[in-house]
Amino acid sequence: MKQAAVVGAGTMGNGIAHVFAQNGWSVTLIDVSEAALDKGIGTIRSNLDRQVKKGTLAADAVDPIMGRITKQTKLDGATGAGLVVEAASENPTLKFQIFEALDRVCGPDAILASNTSSISITEIGAKTKRPDRVIGMHFMNPVPVMQLVEVIRGHATSDATTTTVLDVSKSLGKTPVEVNDYPGFVANRILLPMINEAIYAVMEGVASAESVDTVMKLGMAHPMGPLTLADFIGLDVCLAILEVMHHGLGDPKYRPCPLLRKMVAAGYLGRKSGRGFYDYSKK
Ligand code: NAD
Repeated sequence: MKQAAVVGAGTMGNGIAHVFAQNGWSVTLIDVSEAALDKGIGTIRSNLDRQVKKGTLAADAVDPIMGRITKQTKLDGATGAGLVVEAASENPTLKFQIFEALDRVCGPDAILASNTSSISITEIGAKTKRPDRVIGMHFMNPVPVMQLVEVIRGHATSDATTTTVLDVSKSLGKTPVEVNDYPGFVANRILLPMINEAIYAVMEGVASAESVDTVMKLGMAHPMGPLTLADFIGLDVCLAILEVMHHGLGDPKYRPCPLLRKMVAAGYLGRKSGRGFYDYSKK
């Protein structure tokens, strides 16, 4: 099984295609948007070039890696793949449709993985006739750099599927961690309450955003303060993940901070909108 398909060529999808191709897999990169495909392929090339400049990749390795990636605008492109990693936009209805379609077009043995940050793997699996072969592969951003893959077992995911995906993740040079399917998995279940608490501290006037970030960087050795990280992730994305955990776990400790709601309502979404806890408009 060295043929993969990646659905979605955005921030995560192009990074996932990059690591598969760099580790010898043929990859079909699929996106509904031709422009997103071209941008994704361009990003892969410039990230490979950066690896060459840093001395972590031989210059003559770039063309063969790029040669293993083909692009497609239709899900039929996943037909021959042994493993499909879905990294399309974080929308449950969209993901359910994609998995129903992948279940139809892919071979019966193919494993269908999702990179979702917050949607239930169990629910995605239940949309297919192969819930035992549906699993979460939660890569971190930026994918070529970050070591972790959270491997999420849905309620019906088989041991064989889990073992295969753990092995594939290791063969990509990553460190997989097996977790069970509950809202937020592990990464976001721990990270988002920390970010939320940092926002409460700002709202309550305990300290400024800069001070909160400095405390966590210098006091806890975090490479990035929680509010800088929230701006990087996107405040709308942070709010959506907290809503999923609040709703799915039913515990008030996951209640999104009112200041987070207010900033999202104001269009302060972090880096991508030019303004969040910090101002990026001049950078
Ligand atoms: P993105 O918006 O950068 O990219 C999503 C891509 O999906 C777009 O190019 C869009 O055109 C494409 N798409 C939409 N509908 C499609 C369809 N029907 N078929 C094929 N492609 C389609 O999003 P992203 O940040 O790369 O996130 C992708 C997934 O990864 C989400 O589930 C997200 O929760 C998850 N995730 C994101 C991060 C992150 O830091 N950005 C980290 C971990 C996981």
